[in-house]
Amino acid sequence: MATKKASKKTTKKSATKKAARKPAKKAAKKVATKTRAGGKGQLRVRMYRVGFGDFFLITVPTKAGPKHILIDCGVHAGDIGSMEACVQDLAKETNRKLALVVVTHYHADHLSGFASQFEEFTKFEVDMVWITNRLDPSRKDSRKFKAQIAEVANKLQLRLGARENQDEATALAMAKLQNATGRAFGVKGKKKKEGSNEKALRLVTKEFGGKPPVKYYQGGQKPLLPKSLQGTITAELLGPAPLTSGKEFASSDNKSAQYIMHAADNGLPPTDTLMPFEKKWPAVAGDYNEWTFKEYRTEADIKARVPGTETWLRMEKALQDAQPDTLLAIADAVDGTLNNQSLVILFTCKGKKLLFVGDAQWGNWAYWLYGKKSTGQDLPTIKERANEILGSIDFYKVGHHGSSNANPIPAMAALNPTCVSMCSTESSDAYPGKKRPYGTISKDPNKKGTEVPRITLMEEMEKRTHNRLVRSDWIELDDPKAELEVKASPEAKGQLKKLPPNFSKGDLYVDYVFPK
Ligand SMILES: [Zn+2]
Repeated sequence: MATKKASKKTTKKSATKKAARKPAKKAAKKVATKTRAGGKGQLRVRMYRVGFGDFFLITVPTKAGPKHILIDCGVHAGDIGSMEACVQDLAKETNRKLALVVVTHYHADHLSGFASQFEEFTKFEVDMVWITNRLDPSRKDSRKFKAQIAEVANKLQLRLGARENQDEATALAMAKLQNATGRAFGVKGKKKKEGSNEKALRLVTKEFGGKPPVKYYQGGQKPLLPKSLQGTITAELLGPAPLTSGKEFASSDNKSAQYIMHAADNGLPPTDTLMPFEKKWPAVAGDYNEWTFKEYRTEADIKARVPGTETWLRMEKALQDAQPDTLLAIADAVDGTLNNQSLVILFTCKGKKLLFVGDAQWGNWAYWLYGKKSTGQDLPTIKERANEILGSIDFYKVGHHGSSNANPIPAMAALNPTCVSMCSTESSDAYPGKKRPYGTISKDPNKKGTEVPRITLMEEMEKRTHNRLVRSDWIELDDPKAELEVKASPEAKGQLKKLPPNFSKGDLYVDYVFPK
């Protein structure tokens, strides 16, 4: 795999520098040892540095000793080659026993570790598995939709890959599509067609030791905890929106799901054939299939669809804006739909509240923040319960690797200012191409960049929580055994050296131990 090679190369290159850095390394080891001892019998969250992806371990003290909850295990963009070493650490730390494994949603950056470390994970004993109900194979619609997402993503990859102009937006769309299928990861599946996401799902649903029950959940359901955790921890499911949430609030991912299903059934819109002519003969809305604009139209728009009316002009405008990028818009819809299927979980343990939001984007958040549909322009007041949760949480897993569309401003404003946050992300340039793995920072100060993590959001959160936010890409990896040497992100400002109380750094992770 390209990434592995890259990290080896980095090791060689900086071999001379390594010797000079030895004392610092010793100091880091010391800190790590101290942490392990201090963490005994206390609730702890561990965030591994895997690159752009999520890999979190909650350790819960119970009468029968520490029990472990694994939430997601994947990396996609910015793979720094540390997954194997991190899973080895997980095996050692947990003695290959996990009380609960949670798969928030169907994206490689939350699943790929289960596929790439398949053999190792089959040696784990697991008590129970929770997965978003959008992946429940007993639901006919789930099976169909998963197949359709794969089909659309594959078609889009072919079409975008054939484009002459391979600009940054196209590259980002391609990355989103690979994230949805888990293809192009160098992981061999069982069947020829099995992408790494499917392989990961096969592992968590069928191949764990102990043959754990697999529960598929959505927001509002009361989840069943494994016996090993009962009496110590409770869990409340806030998202995703229920599949049948009535007319007023159709589930947040439903609308774009329909759009994708249409693309699967009827093929992708013929934008590429129109593209070479777009400057000379700009296409008008009428040249396109009606469904191309499904996302831009309300019921009223459809009813008022008379040429010459304002609505019609608005559609023309949407067309002009979207014309070269219809395929990119579908790639976005695929990405956002899967993110919005995320399980959002509030754990409560010994009076501490921990919120894990997966990659939930606006629709998922709107469901549990407001209990009704909201476009984000005319915001209703946050529900009392949501306000109470956000205002009193002790730990927040930052949404979608620090992207602004997954950490809504009203929610962040309601966040308990003494809350601790962890953000698993990657902005380093320590791999081939020396480019930020996800999105780009806009050089124009008036334009919004696409960078994830969003720099302004991260700074704002640091300020708000008085530096109780820690990012995984601040951790410098230096493990000669695993041939790993990855520098901290250039955005790190040495924060790991002056971490707030109860945080500590290990070789591959950052821990937070909750005060008693
Ligand atoms: Zn993700």
